Amino acid sequence: TPTTPVVTRFAPSPTGFLHIGGARTALFNWLYAKAQGGTFLLRIEDTDRARSTEAAIDAILAGLRWLGLDWDGDEVFQFARADRHAAIAHELIARGHAYRCYMTQEEIAAQREAAQAAKQPLRIRSPWRDGDCGEAAPGTPYVVRLRAPREGATTIDDRVQGSVTVQNAELDDLVLLRSDGTPTYMLAVVVDDHDMGVTHVIRGDDHLNNAFRQLPIYRAMGWPEPVYAHIPLIHGSDGAKLSKRHGAVGIEAYRDELGILPEALDNYLLRLGWGHGDEEKISRAQAVEWFDLAAVGKSPSRFDLKKLENL
Ligand code: GLU
Repeated sequence: TPTTPVVTRFAPSPTGFLHIGGARTALFNWLYAKAQGGTFLLRIEDTDRARSTEAAIDAILAGLRWLGLDWDGDEVFQFARADRHAAIAHELIARGHAYRCYMTQEEIAAQREAAQAAKQPLRIRSPWRDGDCGEAAPGTPYVVRLRAPREGATTIDDRVQGSVTVQNAELDDLVLLRSDGTPTYMLAVVVDDHDMGVTHVIRGDDHLNNAFRQLPIYRAMGWPEPVYAHIPLIHGSDGAKLSKRHGAVGIEAYRDELGILPEALDNYLLRLGWGHGDEEKISRAQAVEWFDLAAVGKSPSRFDLKKLENL
């Protein structure tokens, strides 16, 4: 059977510098692409205009280059593709898979209060979903929502997490376009991954919930679905979520302040959550030969600055 060539990507948000977790995600994507004879792409998710900075973009690119994680082709800037994202939202409306929702702030607040009172998570139920609200007055602001499935369940066969199922009734009709016409992150990621031909989405498991919101967009468009691999986040040596107090979390500190060689950091990141037998030092060439998603651990790895410094 013919198989599609593997395409992976690293999709950082340039709201901060390249940190240990992001570098490892990039490394795993790079290695998987190389191991499969595929392509590794880079997308800068700069849609948060208030928090994205040029300095962060430069630091991310420099950090990736320093680690030897070269990407194929030019980096894609997500914000520049906003018109394409909006066009897909309108195509979804035309196909009956999305709708204009004219709910007011008061109506949304009322649902939020009702959910809080019932101690239930907020799941917006829009009266505009089934078109029984008639027509809105011209000029009324609206958001575009996906008409997400409510019956049944969605199962993701994640390469790291295994089979994960969510009842569709637990999801709501996510917003694709905001009232100012700008695309949401959920829509932009799916459209970009599709347009870039991404076959494998390898990212932190803080995005696993998002996958259940993103898949219905693929299905509504009739696009091939990617393989998902959600890798556990890196924790500090005390088991808590990695933060500044566990030592430097920005890549440049290793280069500039701690004098750590990229090969050492690389090797350390590789073995954080992935292993090949008892091998302690794994060269790039060996890693490319051996890397697989099946051997990525399911529990958070612990980052230990001391170990890294002693390499
Ligand atoms: N931009 C997202 C982040 O920085 C990643 C989105 C994705 O990998 O799908 O966490």
